[in-house]
Amino acid sequence: MSITLDLSRAQPATAAPVNLSGLTREGLRQALIDADICPPEKAKMRASQVWGWIHHYGVTDFSLMTNIGKDVQAKLAAAFTLARPEIVERQVSNDGTRKWLIRTAPGIEIETVYIPDVGRAGALCVSSQVGCTLNCTFCHTGTQKLVRNLTAAEIVAQVQVARDDLGEWPSPKEDRRLSNIVFMGMGEPLYNLDHVADAIDIISDGDGIALSRRRTTVSTSGVVPKIQELGERTGTMLAISLHATNDDLRNELVPLNRKYPLAQLMDAIRAYPGLGNSKRVTFEYVMLKGVNDSLAEARALVKLLKGVPAKINLIPFNPWPNSPYECSDWDRIEAFADVVNRAGYASPIRTPRGRDIFAACGQLRSESEKLRASVLKKQRLAGEA
Ligand code: SAH
Ligand code: SF4
Repeated sequence: MSITLDLSRAQPATAAPVNLSGLTREGLRQALIDADICPPEKAKMRASQVWGWIHHYGVTDFSLMTNIGKDVQAKLAAAFTLARPEIVERQVSNDGTRKWLIRTAPGIEIETVYIPDVGRAGALCVSSQVGCTLNCTFCHTGTQKLVRNLTAAEIVAQVQVARDDLGEWPSPKEDRRLSNIVFMGMGEPLYNLDHVADAIDIISDGDGIALSRRRTTVSTSGVVPKIQELGERTGTMLAISLHATNDDLRNELVPLNRKYPLAQLMDAIRAYPGLGNSKRVTFEYVMLKGVNDSLAEARALVKLLKGVPAKINLIPFNPWPNSPYECSDWDRIEAFADVVNRAGYASPIRTPRGRDIFAACGQLRSESEKLRASVLKKQRLAGEA
């Protein structure tokens, strides 16, 4: 059963004034100076205070910043905002997965998914773009045109919304429910690296949300020229949407492969900063019946990854309306996994989560539109009756 609550707020978030949640520490310091909140010599200290309220306590109201004088609180409130975006829809799956449809601006809707019992305690799957410019043939997000890159504030907001809902303010030191972040929602994070890197700086800061970079994973379909930069700027874990072991098939499934073929991709992965046994690359491999799921391909996969510190995630294909593929049979997935297991990769099958609320890999955004269209239709019919 899925539960839908309408938590809409009356006031939609607007582009101005600036939301302080999306500024890095340095950005915040500069913003306080530019808005004449304090003189430059006091800005670092002031920024630290404000930072703690926003990112450790999660406050959305400047008047709660009790170690800041009322006059300064008023100036902050006049110049900036801390408002959360509008939550259009919240759904909870029967497996505990939660999904939020968040509207940050008119026409800008993002899906974010919390999956319990993944990673150390639970993982948040965040989006980096609305839609995607790439057209991987098995991905529903890829069938939608890109609306735009998300700002750092919109990426951080996804974490804030999840923590509001999970009751994780102030930042718990232990027993967190949200312990890991994966950039595996809508969009290609390496086409929005500046904002993704700023957002990671903000959410990993030890005086705030403090989600470790080692528990943050950025997934890419293979934007080769940005892989090194990702490692240098963010220090996060890398995931690669591989899905095929030869260029012919990968060209078809992940068209970006035509621009950056497998040999180049593997070279970039081998050069990823900090790679080693404690920092392995995750290879995602969607199981498509009769397309990429032969045992010969399992062996080719093992061969391709030889010498790369790697984890393998076999993802059962999540179907969507009129999708051109089917999910491999379970027996085949297990046989494929056996080959991979025998080569030393543990528990490689990723159990689909949140399928009942269309929160599983590759199902984001589009299904929401479909659901909402059907709700609208119902309402229309009810109105006509
Ligand atoms: N654009 C980035 C980040 C999205 S991650 C990337 O492609 O890596 C989402 C993961 O889910 C990717 O590995 C993607 O290939 C996979 N995926 C997409 N559609 C899917 C589907 N229908 N079923 C299962 N996995 C899918
Ligand atoms: Fe875009 Fe990733 Fe989907 Fe490919 S799999 S279309 S890169 S979101």
